[in-house]
Amino acid sequence: MTTAACSMNLNPLIDAVKPGPLYRSAIEEVAESVAPVIAENTSYQDARVFERLLIPDRVIRFRVEWVNDQGGVEVNFGWRIEHTNVLGPYKGGLRFHPSVTEDTLHFLAYEQCFKNALTGQPIGGGKGGSNFNPKGKSDNEVMRFCQAFMRELQRHIGPSVDVPAGDIGVGGREIGYLYGQYMKITKQRDGVLTGKPLGLGGLLGRSEATGYGTVTFAEAMLKHAGDTIDGKRVMISGSGNVALYAAELAMEKGGRVVTMSDSGGSVSFEKGMTSEQLRELIDFKEVQRGRLKDWSGKGVSYHPEARPWSLVDADVALPCATQHEVETDDAAALVDRGVKVVAEGANMPCTHSARTVFHMKGVLFGPGKAANAGGVATSCFEMHQNAAHDSWTKDRTMDKLTDVMLEIHEQCISNAPMVNGAVDYGVGADRGGFVKLADAIVAMGV
Ligand code: NDP
Repeated sequence: MTTAACSMNLNPLIDAVKPGPLYRSAIEEVAESVAPVIAENTSYQDARVFERLLIPDRVIRFRVEWVNDQGGVEVNFGWRIEHTNVLGPYKGGLRFHPSVTEDTLHFLAYEQCFKNALTGQPIGGGKGGSNFNPKGKSDNEVMRFCQAFMRELQRHIGPSVDVPAGDIGVGGREIGYLYGQYMKITKQRDGVLTGKPLGLGGLLGRSEATGYGTVTFAEAMLKHAGDTIDGKRVMISGSGNVALYAAELAMEKGGRVVTMSDSGGSVSFEKGMTSEQLRELIDFKEVQRGRLKDWSGKGVSYHPEARPWSLVDADVALPCATQHEVETDDAAALVDRGVKVVAEGANMPCTHSARTVFHMKGVLFGPGKAANAGGVATSCFEMHQNAAHDSWTKDRTMDKLTDVMLEIHEQCISNAPMVNGAVDYGVGADRGGFVKLADAIVAMGV
């Protein structure tokens, strides 16, 4: 690194934006990675690309009012953060969860810009959602909420403008209700949402894409280090969309899945989950919407309120639940349990200090913006399918997903320094995404 690079201090710019704690941790992470790149490129400095990427193009905040099953009026916040469309239409999921705040969505939208850039697909970055809690609500309540949310959101989106998708609390059911309302209001059936049910223009393989992509990325990390996933013990957190399909592909590739979790606790599998147990669990979670505490099976132990990280020995960890679910102590526990590779299926599940533990101990760490980018890449294939009035086969989707994930892995390697003998994928991903965004910002002028 040059002297200029070492002295580049982006912190005053970050302070000026007054980010919330989650957004701050996301931008500080990126700042640390890209400061040397900015220091060596005067066109990035002149065009003030770092600052221009800190402030979203716009933040849309609205009221969502709907009627519950008892006839009472309910009121929630709704948001859509359109962060940057410099590489394509704003693209990123909608999250419905009581913990959602503007800070959560700022951090997710920012991360999304880098992730989407890494995919090489023509998509910008955005994120949205609500503090609505779908848990415990009837189907009709979820439908009425989604319809009310779309009543406002439809003014801001379009297939070349902003194309939302699912995230925590927003799966095929919610996307179906949202898209149904959009079609009724606008008369358009233009594929403005991705992750749609198949009958509404969805893509075969989209449900599997994020989890499959994460495993493909983890496998590429292992291969680069001269190893394989076959026979490895794989710890997974979460039991939602990303986690379940990460488990499926890890097992197909010969891995043994030893944990899963939800917000109530974790399950561990003495000898690894069987494929019959996985089929049951997918049905239990996706169809019956059950809780892990009510699910049991041969060789399965339930650990109330526990995260998976210290429960069993493992070689690979795939955090696939939520942000900051791996803190410093958890990272140390993972190291003690023998984990050598961590790939983030969720968005920023590992805190900054957890990542530091991994780097110090030589654990390979694949950041979410690279490792879970398969979901958004495949959403972009859904946009291609809809725009061309086409119908893709699952094989076509899966082949292209694998290509994209391997290409992202290559970009990380080619931009990454080595730290304690291990490739620093975090820095590689930040720099790879940043350069694409920065070049486009310079090219478009002010
Ligand atoms: P789902 O809602 O399908 O599943 C989320 C899972 O995480 C559930 O098992 C949930 O448990 C658990 N969870 C949620 N919050 C917490 C918490 N605070 N503590 C412990 N467990 C928790 O979401 P997805 O699988 O779609 O998303 C998971 C992560 O992956 C998120 O970070 C998301 O942003 C990211 N992601 C998702 C993509 C996608 O295509 N779906 C694409 C890229 C990233 P419970 O049911 O008890 O709440």
